[in-house]
Amino acid sequence: SAFEYAPAPESRSVVDIAPSYGLFIDGEFTEAADGKVFKTVSPSSEEVLSEVARAGTADVDRAVKAARKAFEKWSALPGSERAKYLFRIARIIQERSRELAVLETLDNGKPIKETRDADLPLVAAHFFYYAGWADKLDHAGYGANPRPLGVAGQVIPWNFPLLMLAWKIAPALATGNTVVLKPAETTPLSALFFADICRQAGLPKGVVNILTGYGDAGEALVTHGDVDKVAFTGSTAVGKAIARSVAGTDKKVTLELGGKGANIVFDDAPIDQAVEGIVTGIFFNQGQVCCAGSRLLVQESVQDEVLDALKRRLSTLRLGDPLDKNTDIGAINSAEQLARITALVETGEAEGAERWSAPCELPSSGYWFAPTLFTNVTQAHTVARDEIFGPVLSVLSFRTPDEAVAKANNSQYGLSAGIWTEKGSRILAVANKLRAGVVWANTFNKFDPTSPFGGYKESGFGREGGRHGLEAYLDVR
Ligand code: NAD
Repeated sequence: SAFEYAPAPESRSVVDIAPSYGLFIDGEFTEAADGKVFKTVSPSSEEVLSEVARAGTADVDRAVKAARKAFEKWSALPGSERAKYLFRIARIIQERSRELAVLETLDNGKPIKETRDADLPLVAAHFFYYAGWADKLDHAGYGANPRPLGVAGQVIPWNFPLLMLAWKIAPALATGNTVVLKPAETTPLSALFFADICRQAGLPKGVVNILTGYGDAGEALVTHGDVDKVAFTGSTAVGKAIARSVAGTDKKVTLELGGKGANIVFDDAPIDQAVEGIVTGIFFNQGQVCCAGSRLLVQESVQDEVLDALKRRLSTLRLGDPLDKNTDIGAINSAEQLARITALVETGEAEGAERWSAPCELPSSGYWFAPTLFTNVTQAHTVARDEIFGPVLSVLSFRTPDEAVAKANNSQYGLSAGIWTEKGSRILAVANKLRAGVVWANTFNKFDPTSPFGGYKESGFGREGGRHGLEAYLDVR
């Protein structure tokens, strides 16, 4: 089969992983106040990578105090000085990107091809981009001399651990805020590595604090009385809980939540290119992407052609060791996520959708799911509505552009969409009717720090990235 499990030429010895790590508070690595720890494992082998301190309420309090203290000096620095730190951090990320890519791949399970060619370049680009804004805030459109909000409590997910960190930390620091960030419990390592980069860059103590831990630490952080700004990326359920818990306080909130993106292929689309875009749209990062193109809407007249080409293409993807440079499909991030995907796929079958999975041998250890398609899907099916957050594509068809738009918009979510057509006029007409924060035309899953990103409807509110991303961290004056 094309899916053989290839040995890893890229050695994990590129990066040193310590047997244990502390929390990063006020510029120092420290144990949790109650001494609690948890293990982080490699999703592709289930090997324990390290033991990490588990933050509790006392640690959250300590970190917020450190950030508050640091805020006075950090916010008073001229923007041009803050920019120097951010540029330095960006340069160190570039210099250490090989270590970071391997570390991220080990802890997350995603292919090295993606961490090396997508995650890391984008992480560095975000720091470079926001470094450039730090001394130009007067020109950002928020009035003269806009003010930072104060201490930002940031909670991020496991699907792009370092990139989500960059999306959160770079604009916060550029605007003069200080940060307490909690990475997801299954992917704590790259955030701790980043803490080390902050020290290497000479960033003043307390400006960035990293608390590894679980949802309880996230909750303690976002509800802490001295946190001025809450930034969250993750599930819609937790996002809603956070919105409820901060209601009635003076905290500013941005939420980046789930999605069920429609990838719309018209009959005049360049089919080969569209098939590549469909694959990128849903199988990049094993589909664990909030803006994934998880619903394929294909015009009836080309449905068979597109599906045949798609199945042929999926049969050539290589699933296996994420450290192998030739791997296309890596491991699912955790046993819990694999169980969620499996349950939703079983629901799809039970409701009568037709399942096709790429023929592949799954490795015996680790968490794996073969690229999967559902056809005969109607809008009533669970797999057409719920976010699966895995390598599973639901295929629906349409006859007219209006029907495509109606189906695409028939979702509680509104994060992303894609349009495939030769007609420029159709791109504009359809894009304007789609209720989604990002619409790609003849491409998918393209990111750039200059572009704002965020959702409509239950996909959240607020924008990250671009000039708009500054707004979330500033008070207009
Ligand atoms: P989650 O929302 O439970 O976790 C995201 C982050 O929030 C983690 O750091 C977690 O520790 C923290 N957290 C959990 N409960 C919290 C609380 N009450 N208060 C504050 N922080 C809390 O997401 P998950 O369990 O990792 O994944 C579940 C589903 O979420 C996935 O299947 C997927 O649908 C969705 N998801 C979406 C994104 C996205 O980018 N939009 C990312 C990851 C997961």
